Order: sequence, then C-alpha cells, then structure tokens
Amino acid sequence: MAKAKARDEFPDPVKRALYERVNGLCSKPDCRVITKGAKSDTDQAFTIGQASHIHAASKGGPRFLSTQTPAQRKAFANGIWLCSNHGTEVDADEITFPADMLRTWKSKTEGYVRSMVGKMPSYVPPPPRSEEGLIALGPNVLVFGRIVGHSAKSWKLSLGEFLLGDVHDLYQFVDTFESATPDDRYVSFERTGAGGMLAQPPSIVDEGELVVSLELESTLSPANALATFDVTKYGKTLAIDMALDEPHVVWDRSVSGADTVPQRLFVILTGVKGGWRGGDDPGSRVAELNLKLSGDHIENIIAIEIARLASVPYHDRLLKTSEPALGFVRRVRGVRMMAQRSPLYLMARLSLDIWGLAETQEYDIPISSSTESLGPEPKVDVSLFGP
Ligand SMILES: [Zn+2]
Repeated sequence: MAKAKARDEFPDPVKRALYERVNGLCSKPDCRVITKGAKSDTDQAFTIGQASHIHAASKGGPRFLSTQTPAQRKAFANGIWLCSNHGTEVDADEITFPADMLRTWKSKTEGYVRSMVGKMPSYVPPPPRSEEGLIALGPNVLVFGRIVGHSAKSWKLSLGEFLLGDVHDLYQFVDTFESATPDDRYVSFERTGAGGMLAQPPSIVDEGELVVSLELESTLSPANALATFDVTKYGKTLAIDMALDEPHVVWDRSVSGADTVPQRLFVILTGVKGGWRGGDDPGSRVAELNLKLSGDHIENIIAIEIARLASVPYHDRLLKTSEPALGFVRRVRGVRMMAQRSPLYLMARLSLDIWGLAETQEYDIPISSSTESLGPEPKVDVSLFGP
C-alpha cells in the first residue's frame, strides 16, 4: 500500500500574500505575465498562476531542504508566485533554477511592482523615456536622443545633438538602406543597453522635431537566447592573460564556460572592424571612434558598440554561421573608464548581464586604441634596413 507523502502546502493567507506582493505577475523577471483575470460568464476570477515552493513541499521534490521545519516549508519566505509555465519549468530543473535565483526573482519583481504603483503598467522592462542617451543608426550616425514611444518591435525616438554625422547622414542612411550590407542596418541604444536589426528604413515622422520611428526585426525569445548563448556551456579555449601590458595567449592553459567571457570581450572589442589585421573577423569601432572623437564620450561609445555586437549578427563566410559576435551579452548596464595600465590599451569596467549567469557581472577589459590596421597594410618594414 502506497503511503501518502506529507506535503507542506501553503495556507491561503500565504498564497494571497505571494500573489498580492507581485500584483499577480509571474515573478520571473523576463516573463512577468498577468496571471489572473475575470471569467466572462460569472463574477469569478480564473488564474494561470501558482504559489510555488522555493524548497520543495515534500521529500524528493525540487530543491528540497531537509533542515527546514514544516512551518518553514509553508512560510511566505519559502514561496514565489509564478505563471504555470514557469512554475512547471523551475520545478523540472533545480540545477538551472537554484533557490537563490528564485529568491532574487521574487525580490526583483516585488521591487518592480512597488516602483510601478500608481503608474501606467507597461511591458517589462520599460525603456526609460525621459533619459537621454547615445543612439547609433547604422555606422555613420551617432546622435543623442531618447525613446518617446515603444512597443515590442517598434521604437519612436526623439533625436537631439549629433555626435557623429548630421541630419544629412541620417537621410542618407534612410535613402541607401536597401542597398546597405545587412550588418549596417541597425540601431543601438545606450540607455536600454541593447540594439537590433532594422526591418525597414527608419521613417522620419516629424522633420522639425526630428522624431523617427523604427521597426525592428524579430529577435530570439529569452528562452531561445538562453539556449543559444548560455556561457556556462562554452567549451575549452586557450587562455589569454590580460593582466600584462600586451595581453597574450597562454599556450599551456585553457578556460571554459563563464571564464571565457572576459577574453571574448577583449578579443572582439580590440579587433578593429574593417581593419586588415582581423581579416574577416568581427570587430568593434571603439578605437576608430575614440580617435575620430578625440576620446570624447568614450564610455557611451563602448556601451553602444557592445550593444551592437550583442544584437547584430556577424556573418562568418568560412564557418557559414551568422551570429552576433557578443551574443552572450544580454544587456549593457554600464561602462566606466579606469586608469590605463599601458598607453596602447584603454581600460574599461563593464557591467553586463550575461546569458546563463544570474547576476550582473563586472569585468575590467583592456581595449586596444590602435587604428593602425585601418590604414594600408604594410608589405615590408623598410625601417628595419636603416636610413
Ligand atoms: Zn512566467
């Protein structure tokens, strides 16, 4: 005869508190769907949400903690409100969804709901409307502006002062859009720390105020992006020592998983886009723009270049793949310049959200300031032969 398993279920007041403190949103930060609604034929409500256990309600369940008392197991602190999809998902995979991650989701979503009380609800996370930031529209226009309207795939921007190019370059970008190479048809926005491919040329909806509307190509869902770019699954590669003045490969040491992130950032950001040294490799325009703008706004430039490299696919002709070079970056949170260790390298502290890692990460990354490879490729170094 099978013994009934003892399950420490939440009492109704705990379930209600879990639901109410997130206003019925799924607590998974990139989901946050509404989980309760009115039934159309009665005065009742229905729900697609559930109060889930952080540590399982019974032995053998996900994240079960034998040291918990039954009272702790059914307490508010051990619960999280999730939509039924994510309730099922987190209970099916306790490795991907450890207890600490669930507690972080819970407190972040509680904080989000607290900050939204009395405001118009919008899809999460809403881009900051009022804050101005640097926007790249293709490779020749850098302009300060802000988001004045937005839905899932379209943005409306109000543009201000140009940092690179001018209004004629903007019209040029619109006019030559169809003939431009695909990886030049992008927007990258510092304030959201993200970018995207444009599905069609920007339309200038108000010439006087310079308001443009953009349609973005569809992107991966968060679940698919995680499956594609999860850095914890990255295989072994040779280590690069970045502590030296001139970073270099260490031939007898390898790194894998999340440890490859800093050196991937270094390699891609130091590579000069369009330069001869990298051949067909992807690269950044950090050094080029640093020179063009005499170092002005270099933090904004780095942020916008990472956002571009994280969202615009780079086509590798040899491997026949098409993927963003920094696709593992989910969002750029901040860039701060640090003291340079060598005159050859800018030093930047990057705060980034990374696919597969729960918390925002900080990396100190050297980025070459040399634009030498944008010039003619040297054939023979004649200086070796003396005057
Ligand atoms: Zn959900």
